[in-house]
Amino acid sequence: MRNGEVSYWWQARGIPPRRPALPGSTEADVCIVGAGYTGLWTAYYLSRADPALRIVVLEASFAGYGASGRNGGWVTAELPGSRARYARHPRGTDGVRDLEQHLRDTVDEVARVCAAEGIDAGLVKGGTLSVATSAAQQARLRRRLERDRAWGDDAGTVRYLEKTELDDHLRLTGALGALYSPHCARMQPADLVAGLAEAVTRAGVRLYEATPVTSISAGCARTPAGDVRASYIVRCTEGYTADIPGQHRTLLPMNSSMIVTGPLGDEAWKSIGWDRFETLGDEAHAYIYAQRTADGRIALGGRGVPYRFGSGLDHDGVIAPSTIAQLGRILRRMFPVAAGAGLEHAWCGVLGVPRDWCATVTLDPQTGLGWAGGYSGHGVAAANLAGRTLADLVRGVPSPLTTLPWVGHRSPRWEPEPARWTGVRGLYALYRTADRLESARRSPRTSALARAGDLISGIPH
Ligand SMILES: Cc1cc2nc3c(=O)[nH]c(=O)nc-3n(C[C@H](O)[C@H](O)[C@H](O)COP(=O)(O)OP(=O)(O)OC[C@H]3O[C@@H](n4cnc5c(N)ncnc54)[C@H](O)[C@@H]3O)c2cc1C
Repeated sequence: MRNGEVSYWWQARGIPPRRPALPGSTEADVCIVGAGYTGLWTAYYLSRADPALRIVVLEASFAGYGASGRNGGWVTAELPGSRARYARHPRGTDGVRDLEQHLRDTVDEVARVCAAEGIDAGLVKGGTLSVATSAAQQARLRRRLERDRAWGDDAGTVRYLEKTELDDHLRLTGALGALYSPHCARMQPADLVAGLAEAVTRAGVRLYEATPVTSISAGCARTPAGDVRASYIVRCTEGYTADIPGQHRTLLPMNSSMIVTGPLGDEAWKSIGWDRFETLGDEAHAYIYAQRTADGRIALGGRGVPYRFGSGLDHDGVIAPSTIAQLGRILRRMFPVAAGAGLEHAWCGVLGVPRDWCATVTLDPQTGLGWAGGYSGHGVAAANLAGRTLADLVRGVPSPLTTLPWVGHRSPRWEPEPARWTGVRGLYALYRTADRLESARRSPRTSALARAGDLISGIPH
């Protein structure tokens, strides 16, 4: 079985040859740091809005090396953060509903651009299922539904599926019921990011790979190969932000790990169902996420080792054998018939988590410095919306996007070490124990350990 090598998605597609590095100091109107979805969508919409703009993208490794080429492939409309927190914005609850509607529309926008640019990322909008496999999870799903209804989400946005209805979608061992929302698509992450990189370079954007930015200041992004001087410098480095001078405690690099099976046979798919390609998650505290891939496999992810001391990063996505074993157990428990297909690849990546778990899109017109990220695991669609918003902010064009409540949002900084490491590792230890306790009993009550964890972490609901 392969471990690391960036991700299954890149291995399936083939890791591309590197584009040229920055040849030396240069000038631009806009310099974007990081070629994941956020940076590339920003470049995409800027170049379309004003083809005369000189746009440079600087990427430390290759376009899509980060989370954008490793993720679970959910183009999800899920809000990256807490409604209550975003509602503290002057626009209040209306602003939050607006942001949620824009995220829902974004799922279609991603599909529209894929079609327009000839990007075949296997995108299918089958919606998303969040299943309960214990009485406590089921009770949480129902409470979540009540909260959604109170926020105005009708049955067209989210609804509860009894076990028998869930079986029409997919048959999952131990499932008791699920929430279903149509606002999600599954896709092949590396195909999307590679297609985007090609689309922006076709549009005249200069994308330099193997070019790490060592510092960012107003008007200048410094690299070992030279400086890029630009009126606007936009940082799009999400889970990697801690390595940029001055940003060590801005976003925590949270680790997420994935495994993928070999192709399942027709008989196995017949017994599972999953013909509409919904994305699949559960309501555990240490939750999992999964998709049926375009090439007939199950890709499943979960937290694994949540965080490395000192905001450390992974090595090309290599994960611990214990995490592979843990995710494999979950997969076999949910889909016993998938066991025959074996596991073919495991990898991990980092996503950016702000201290209050709420994302930010921001640009200071005085200094020309901007950034977006902190999507806390819901970054695929959000990065498109953030990119469109950054494009409007850079061009100074007021739009419905530039007043959304995540624009200019400020999160507190993370605690210094060792508090950061102790807190995050302790939190996930609490969550795993809580999940075990809840699975072992019939009580609908959420374990007190998990409630304590939520309280300590500030994870919003
Ligand atoms: C395993 C995993 C599963 C996930 N699943 C989902 C999912 O299913 N749905 C969802 O919505 N979200 C998911 N996420 C989160 C989502 O993938 C990210 O939020 C999103 O891809 C972030 O995009 P980005 O462009 O901001 O950052 P990234 O894709 O991480 O890109 C940042 C880029 O910046 C580059 N870089 C870093 N430092 C520098 C520097 N100093 N100089 C130049 N370049 C630099 C990196 O090499 C990288 O290419 C997942 C994340 C992971 C890790």
